[in-house]
Amino acid sequence: MDAISRKFDIVIIGGAIMGALTAFFLREEGFAGSIAIVERDRSYGQAATALSAAGIRQQFSTPENIRLSRASLAFYRDFERRFGVPAGFVEQGYLLLASQSGLAALKTNYRAQIEEGAEIALEEPQALARRHPWLNVEDIAAGATGLSGEGWFDPWSVLGAVNRHNREHGVVFIDGEATGFDVSGGRIDAVSCTDGERIGCGIAINATGPNAGVVAELAGADLPVEPRKRTVFRFTCPHPPGNMPLTADLSGVWVRPEGEGFIAGAPPPNEDGPADPADFDPDYALFEEAVWPVLAHRVPAFEAIRMTGAWAGHYDYNRFDQNALIGAVPGFDNFFVIGGFSGHGVQQAPAAGRALAELIARGAFRTIDCAAFSPARILAGRRLTERNVI
Ligand SMILES: Cc1cc2nc3c(=O)[nH]c(=O)nc-3n(C[C@H](O)[C@H](O)[C@H](O)COP(=O)(O)OP(=O)(O)OC[C@H]3O[C@@H](n4cnc5c(N)ncnc54)[C@H](O)[C@@H]3O)c2cc1C
Repeated sequence: MDAISRKFDIVIIGGAIMGALTAFFLREEGFAGSIAIVERDRSYGQAATALSAAGIRQQFSTPENIRLSRASLAFYRDFERRFGVPAGFVEQGYLLLASQSGLAALKTNYRAQIEEGAEIALEEPQALARRHPWLNVEDIAAGATGLSGEGWFDPWSVLGAVNRHNREHGVVFIDGEATGFDVSGGRIDAVSCTDGERIGCGIAINATGPNAGVVAELAGADLPVEPRKRTVFRFTCPHPPGNMPLTADLSGVWVRPEGEGFIAGAPPPNEDGPADPADFDPDYALFEEAVWPVLAHRVPAFEAIRMTGAWAGHYDYNRFDQNALIGAVPGFDNFFVIGGFSGHGVQQAPAAGRALAELIARGAFRTIDCAAFSPARILAGRRLTERNVI
């Protein structure tokens, strides 16, 4: 075995949005020790962060998720002042629709959101049609429109600016793929990379997104995180509806403006399984079968649209309860995870990164209590049930 070549107080595996923001907040918390980020692909071309739809919303069902997104919202709003570049935040809202059968859940969620300070309008069809004249409300019982603090942003700009800041604050970037760990007595002593280098560490953080389950397994840990493929379609429309929020239909199909056109996606038609980590081929059939018929029904202006492209990315899917895992990996003293966000990660990354940094640098959560997201809940069989997973 090669000797340990260098040692860092903290080694973060994965340098996309979770790793980047954890490093950033470690420094913000005053952590002055050495930090390295091990990243296998610094183009981030296949990272979920880069392939994300990057929506941010407050319309979750659990107070924990609402809080995580609201705390992150403050960070994104303040981004340009802090980093000198905009986060590209388009504050145009989310619109979640419900049929008669989903009405009770929409109302319950609405109450939870209002209680947390979110500004949401819950409206019946007539009022909904007045607010969104482009919307077909014939089979809708109610809709909830986010009036502030929801929309989408540019994850590339965010990632670039945060990692630039990290480099300026002494975070060392190591090009390499983590392929193994030295483990002794519930502690990680070193991270091994493809090129044979062994990097010593005081603490290791698994921020590898959809690959977090595989990376945990390298240390003998079991984390229920796996890649799930999702396709995003781009299209244009000759008579585009104006001022559209991200609109989520009853079917789960969602659509939002993007530049001059729109992007849309759909949940997989059946309960899907883990994706081949190398498969980034868009599922084009989904557009004709599931997406376009719903778009044309829900927004009559979308009867005439032209699909102009598509991409596929991998959700960092937590098959236990589709919610974040933030904290120590069960069975380890110095191995942490920040992952499993299952489609709502880029919007929660600032608050999650900050929470993990606080836990590591201060020994406890301070600004936001993330105990509900502890990976320990897996062993305890305690699911955090979120009804609004898009
Ligand atoms: C199509 C799509 C749409 C989405 N839409 C939204 C949305 O609207 N709103 C929202 O909030 N979230 C959304 N998400 C989810 C969000 O993008 C993710 O939750 C988030 O980006 C996860 O960030 P991450 O840093 O954990 O993972 P990633 O961005 O995947 O980064 C993980 C990094 O780890 C590196 N890595 C992996 N294994 C190793 C290893 N062994 N050694 C070294 N490096 C390694 C990878 O190269 C990668 O750079 C969407 C995701 C997809 C795919």
